[in-house]
Amino acid sequence: MKQLLLFINNDWVDAVSKKTFPTINPQDESVIAQVAEGDKADIDLAVAAAKKAFYRYSSWRTMDASQRGLLMLKLAELLEAQSRYLAELETLDCGKPVKQSEEEVYFSASVLRYYAGKADKILGNTIPADGEVLSFTLKDPVGVCGQIIPWNYPIPMMVWKIAPALAAGCTIVLKPAEQTPLTALAVAALIKEAGFPPGVVNVVPGYGPTAGAALTHHPDVDKVAFTGSTEVGRIILGAASAVNLKRVTLELGGKSPLVVFNDADVEKAAQIAHAAAFANAGQCCCAGTRTYVQSGIYDQFVKKAAEIAQKRSVGNPFDDVQQGPQIDKDMYTKVLNYITAGKEGGAKCIAGGDKLGDKGYFIKPTVFADVQDNMKIAREEIFGPVQSILKFETFDEVVDRANDTNYGLAAGVITNDVVTALSFAKQVRAGSIWINTYDHVTSQTPFGGFKDSGLGRELGEDGINQYLETKTVTLALPKKPQI
Ligand code: NAD
Repeated sequence: MKQLLLFINNDWVDAVSKKTFPTINPQDESVIAQVAEGDKADIDLAVAAAKKAFYRYSSWRTMDASQRGLLMLKLAELLEAQSRYLAELETLDCGKPVKQSEEEVYFSASVLRYYAGKADKILGNTIPADGEVLSFTLKDPVGVCGQIIPWNYPIPMMVWKIAPALAAGCTIVLKPAEQTPLTALAVAALIKEAGFPPGVVNVVPGYGPTAGAALTHHPDVDKVAFTGSTEVGRIILGAASAVNLKRVTLELGGKSPLVVFNDADVEKAAQIAHAAAFANAGQCCCAGTRTYVQSGIYDQFVKKAAEIAQKRSVGNPFDDVQQGPQIDKDMYTKVLNYITAGKEGGAKCIAGGDKLGDKGYFIKPTVFADVQDNMKIAREEIFGPVQSILKFETFDEVVDRANDTNYGLAAGVITNDVVTALSFAKQVRAGSIWINTYDHVTSQTPFGGFKDSGLGRELGEDGINQYLETKTVTLALPKKPQI
């Protein structure tokens, strides 16, 4: 099957080494397929194709910006037309409930449409000239982009990366996560069908330290955009500056606080906090995993949080469930180790606390109460279905505690008092603040982190700016033209 090969220059090709790697179904641990394994030699070919497609006389570079937008609209249409197929493939490879996978395809199509509309609205400025010059700015595409994405939202992560890059006129070599290469290749087929010229988007599955590292070190790559762990983010930042000074955007981990004040409706707040912690089986960079609850409603809230978690349906992601398996054996083991650390550290496990079944990587939705800020489960990103509940007394105390982390991706607050809500939004150091909701991400609103949660923003106007260089053009004008 073609779509298990590398996608380079609009062709399906074997890896130069002829090597393949297995992709695993996390529900039953079976091998779904063998996928061509990209490495440095393949990255070299893909970057060469992307560089050629970026050459100033190429069909891509000479295409009207509005035509770029039309190609993106076509791709959005194809995604929606194939939504069921893509969703099933995603669920097979990644384990998320199929209904959620399908919603993610539609969300991705909306991101493509948002940026398609921006393609022909990229404008520079005219600068008030001093003396005998006239200046204006042009916005140039940054060039060949290396994009490295994770396994937790494979289609949305791919589209968040390619859509602003395409709108800006860049060319792309994308490396999907080794756990979930299938939908990236399926979307690549649709990119070709939509009519993008060869070399504009290339997709090279492979491992991080080989294919990923080759991309970040490549001298002909002008920018690297990465989503994944903070640890690898640091490696990428170093690698990206080693050979040339690549532009870098990083969307990394988090340990986000969600704060519930005494005036909140306990039932509603517990539901929001549950969704914040458990969405995508907890495999979400902005998951609200530190739930701070004010003392007046703490006991009621804890009881409700445990009830909701115990009712959460977990099982075959092709059934109507809220949660499927964790992505792979490593993550499954890592999350179970955190649960053990929570118990041994003295937190009170009030729901779940164990694996579920003997086949596949299923974990029971787990809630810890009476968690203290210095416990491992309150400090480190778990990336699994684990909620930690902590008690607080005052506004200032909880803002200090919310900010006491090296991360700063997101935060939430639940209160009916507008002054409390907006003061919280102003004082908490995080890239997204949600008030009386959580995880509300749209195409139009920028997303990204403070501190160790990243560099730059994706989505919205900020998202496309990360794919543009500003060029200042200055023209000498004589005071009195000799005409
Ligand atoms: P990771 O950071 O190792 O992998 C993410 C991507 O980076 C993958 O495509 C991987 O192949 C690539 N990569 C790995 N090493 C690389 C290297 N040296 N050079 C270039 N690319 C490299 O993430 P993971 O191992 O899949 O998950 C580990 C942790 O990452 C999780 O526990 C979680 O904390 C975090 N994570 C965060 C996000 C997020 O959305 N922010 C997503 C997935 C994982």
